[in-house]
Amino acid sequence: MTDRKTELAGNLARVEDRISAACAAAGRPRQDVTLIVVTKTYPASDVRLLADLGVRHVAENRDQDAAPKAAECADLPLSWHFVGQLQTNKVRSVASYADVVQSVDRKRLVDALSAAAVRGGRELGCLIQVAFDAESGGRSGRGGVAPDGVAELADAVAEAQGLRLQGLMAVAPLVGPYADRPGAAFDRLMEISSSLRAVHPAATMVSAGMSTDLEDAVAAGATHVRVGTAVLGVRPRLR
Ligand SMILES: *Cc1c(COP(=O)(O)O)cnc(C)c1O
Repeated sequence: MTDRKTELAGNLARVEDRISAACAAAGRPRQDVTLIVVTKTYPASDVRLLADLGVRHVAENRDQDAAPKAAECADLPLSWHFVGQLQTNKVRSVASYADVVQSVDRKRLVDALSAAAVRGGRELGCLIQVAFDAESGGRSGRGGVAPDGVAELADAVAEAQGLRLQGLMAVAPLVGPYADRPGAAFDRLMEISSSLRAVHPAATMVSAGMSTDLEDAVAAGATHVRVGTAVLGVRPRLR
């Protein structure tokens, strides 16, 4: 193995151990939790190594970086998740390679994604991004809709052509009532997920937890964790 592949294999093994231990501690089967590796800022060559090491889900947060990377890796058996704030003028590009858009947070974006999916003849999985630092009825500057806006947006996704409502995504907030309390934020996310599933039973995905708080997310009940730094290393530039 190349040095980089050995490094990634070691990091992946450590993350796998953490996920397994968190599942065991929560009394959950390991296969209930899917690892998504966040490859933002890292090159397509790393994505290729990760695929070789068995990774099947990758995530990106900027279309400018993700589009060429996804094109270079089109031969690999990967699902691509888009997790960044998404401007409507990038939707057509994102809809051409993303399998799941995890950052759906407004009706205008739902309409644009639906139009792009239909035009491209693709079905796009969608997660509603919940922001715990947003004012009631509003959105966060970092992306995401306030909890009280989830139901209406979920209905819009469910009704939109070309889109499939799959669940919820959240990032533990840095400010507001849940700052420094990722476990409490993820517990709240699971409550919102139960309400959502009462209306949309197939929307079972809960994407929560990153390098520093994946244990809290697994304990709360997350189905997907999004891990960047712990697999690839500290990013050269923060975006
Ligand atoms: C970058 C990013 C992650 C991964 O964060 P790490 O701390 O590097 O594990 C997860 N989710 C989103 C939305 C991100 O932007």
